[in-house]
Amino acid sequence: MSSLDTLLSSIPSIKKPVLAKLQNMGLLTVGDLFSHLPHRYEDYATIRPIASLAAGEKCTVLGTVTKLHSGKSFRKRMLVTEISVADDSGTLRVVWFNQRFIATALKVGSAVRLSGKVTADKGGLLMTNPELERAERDATHTGRLVPVYPETRGLTSRFFRWQITALFQKIKAIPDPVPQEILERLHLPSYHQSLRYLHFPKNEKEILLAEKRSAFDEMFLVQLKALQLKALFETSLAESLELPPQILENFIETLPFSLTGAQKKAVGEILDDLAGPHPMNRLLNGDVGSGKTVVAAVAALAAAGQGCQVALLAPTEVLARQHFESLSSLFAPGGETVSLFTGSYRLLDGKTVTRKTMQKAIESGIPKIIVGTHALLQEDVRFQKLALVIVDEQHRFGVAQRAKLQDMSFGSQDGQADRVPHFLTMTATPIPRTLSLAFFGNLEISLLDELPKNRKPIITKLVKNQTAREKVYQFINQEIKKGRQAFIIFPLVEESLALKEVKAAVKEHEKLTHKIFPHLSVGLIHGKLKAKEKEDIMHAFREKDYDILVATAVVEVGVDVPNASIILIEEAERFGLAQLHQFRGRVGRGEHQSYCFLVPGENAKNLERLEVLEKEASGFAIAEADLALRGPGAFFGTRQSGLPDIAMENLTNMKLVTIARDEAKGILANDPHLEKHPALREALKRFEERVHFE
Ligand code: ADP
Ligand code: MG
Repeated sequence: MSSLDTLLSSIPSIKKPVLAKLQNMGLLTVGDLFSHLPHRYEDYATIRPIASLAAGEKCTVLGTVTKLHSGKSFRKRMLVTEISVADDSGTLRVVWFNQRFIATALKVGSAVRLSGKVTADKGGLLMTNPELERAERDATHTGRLVPVYPETRGLTSRFFRWQITALFQKIKAIPDPVPQEILERLHLPSYHQSLRYLHFPKNEKEILLAEKRSAFDEMFLVQLKALQLKALFETSLAESLELPPQILENFIETLPFSLTGAQKKAVGEILDDLAGPHPMNRLLNGDVGSGKTVVAAVAALAAAGQGCQVALLAPTEVLARQHFESLSSLFAPGGETVSLFTGSYRLLDGKTVTRKTMQKAIESGIPKIIVGTHALLQEDVRFQKLALVIVDEQHRFGVAQRAKLQDMSFGSQDGQADRVPHFLTMTATPIPRTLSLAFFGNLEISLLDELPKNRKPIITKLVKNQTAREKVYQFINQEIKKGRQAFIIFPLVEESLALKEVKAAVKEHEKLTHKIFPHLSVGLIHGKLKAKEKEDIMHAFREKDYDILVATAVVEVGVDVPNASIILIEEAERFGLAQLHQFRGRVGRGEHQSYCFLVPGENAKNLERLEVLEKEASGFAIAEADLALRGPGAFFGTRQSGLPDIAMENLTNMKLVTIARDEAKGILANDPHLEKHPALREALKRFEERVHFE
């Protein structure tokens, strides 16, 4: 007998080399193996008379071997095993290539079950490389809804089916993390049952039921976590931060613009939260260019003014640097200084210092406003009195990671054991209602739904052919003559292809430099450069050393170059609409009329999708369109969030969210720390590990 915790290494039928492969896939226990779920099923359930078969069908036949021949093929030197199988209705030829075990396992007269695809050649119908099983055996690889598992090198679906079948028969009752009464109320199968349904389904209905159960589990865990966090915020204490009205007024007076109504409202909401005894947990949600930075600056001022520290986290070093610069200039008139602490930069009071000096200074409370990347919370940085954590461009960190950053913020070290920091996140990703309830049920939202008045809408055009492209190049030339600058963006590719990306960008850069804009100065920035190199290039671009900046997706967020008025995006169809809208936000930041050109790749389809951007200026409307077109997985980036696809799909299911939330509330009302539900607590812990911060 084994249990879910039984180690695969203790199972005699799993040999060392196989064990190593399983471990590489992160499968260590029997429970892990059972959680390795099929990604699809082949419907081989019905057994068909041979005479009824037609080429192209996938099916199962049951018959007796009437002929058997095995030998090397003449030309290809492959082992070819050919048999004839007969049932009452007819005979079928079956061929395998390079499958040594077949010839030894079979003889004339063996009764077999075969599942596979029927094809035809000169000699009539045949099956090639079908799944084979002796007829007297239980149906595992043939004759049922056969699960197909995600495979890695050397571990086949056949292996998983075989092992899972053997182990499932020997397993003790599997404990269920979800209480019985909830399952009954929602008509969901037990966990044990749902595993049976997924690995050994009798019909489609069982698979659907099991998927419903998994969907509930994921959402239930998300909600438990969200509600626990909410309770944590409500019961924790934070520094009450009051910003004297006079200081606020003075600060606002020094700004080169007046705040929008939405900015004023957000500032009010944040200051109210900060003044309270419990930590704020708020999301500042505003389109690109809506002016989130200055709102964050007010929050920072409230903390620093009271002698407390503020950490502002950006997703990349380049963005951290930029925040450092914009906050420095916002605060310059009032005399507040800002420090920068990332892997490559340590700026304390305007001077570059060592890492150690920086750490010491932070610990003794000297710098009040510290800008950095998320490493600022992760590493062994101790603060003297950290009262506020601000996370910018939170969507870049991934939605699920917000919880992790929150945990880090709570766990951050400072001299005050009984106080936790206030927490403010900022994002330019508009969050539709279902998603905000699913993921952010535990936090308040301030919306910047109004752009500063001086903004002209960005003129967006699809560039559909070569002639149009040449016209656009001419146009770019003209604008640059007038003193403007332009971005040219190439798509971001998979990380594993980063080198290829660099090569493509370098090649394109050469072409643009020598052939298309020979009289202009063209810079190049890409993801493989060091932070310092990127910063130097961005700096040079801002200083107008370059007319054009060729970039891979690194300029996606936050970068502010008011003189840049054109952005041209190559292979635009490869990006999501929301992401293209982010790119577009890189221009239109100054007083100049700005333009965005979307150039589809050669084989691009679905250009209607891109036309949404020609017509629509609001990030919120675009996000809704993107969500409808591509689903939430694409919207947030499944990989980024760390959540499995299934949960992503279910995020838009309002009913599921509500049900899961109600059940989670019911449980936590009587058992806030899940002490009476150990299996559930364990499942939640595993879930949190799975959606771990990358
Ligand atoms: P985002 O919300 O995208 O982070 P930023 O905070 O970077 O936007 O602001 C974009 C630009 O708009 C900056 O150059 C900033 O100085 C300017 N800005 C912010 N608020 C206003 C305002 N109320 N009126 C005019 N310009 C503003
Ligand atoms: Mg910003």
